Amino acid sequence: MPTILIVEDEAAIADTLLYALQAEGFATEWISLGRDALARLDAGGIDCVVLDIGLPDLRGFDVCRELRKTSDVPVLFLTARSDEIDRIVGLEIGADDYVTKPFSPREVATRIKTILRRTARQATSPTPATIAGLTLDRAAGRIACHGQALTLTRYEFLLLAELIEHPERIFNRAQLMDRVWQDALDTDERTVDTHIKTLRTKLRAVLPDLDPIVTHRGLGYSLCRIPSCA
Ligand code: CA
Repeated sequence: MPTILIVEDEAAIADTLLYALQAEGFATEWISLGRDALARLDAGGIDCVVLDIGLPDLRGFDVCRELRKTSDVPVLFLTARSDEIDRIVGLEIGADDYVTKPFSPREVATRIKTILRRTARQATSPTPATIAGLTLDRAAGRIACHGQALTLTRYEFLLLAELIEHPERIFNRAQLMDRVWQDALDTDERTVDTHIKTLRTKLRAVLPDLDPIVTHRGLGYSLCRIPSCA
């Protein structure tokens, strides 16, 4: 039974969530302060965090950023303000998803189930990983598309490898810069678009009708598990 930690200072909201998540078969814990939540998470055993942004002691953003130094536990943000959404998707804070207040508890439960399914799949994905007909052998520095080896530059390889290892996760440009261009600090975010473009051209040579790379307007890019939906 997955354990969900709810970090929320408003008791009424926390109560509603606790009730709804328990009804869906989750074990639940509730903490109202960011620092207490970090201490609890440090102890382990939490499968997903529902994290309010407006906490009395720390901002939810800071809790998440701190948490990401040591943990990959999924984080679902609760936000009351639309301008906070821009920060959630625009910053490298490692959130998995968000819901806006007021929300339906059922919606939160559904999002958590989706996140947990996704992380479970990632944990069990075989090596080398094959997603959407793309087979990644990171150790050998090779990616094949339906068995046909792709000729990629170093950064094209690193970029596509990152997408293959996290299918259906939306990366914004800053996140891809951080993960792929770690040793090239003078490049800018348009570099990501340029490399996505050349990757698409190379993939199109093998897959004329399918584009496994999905552009999410204003958000970033993801790799589609089933490229026919692209
Ligand atoms: Ca709050």
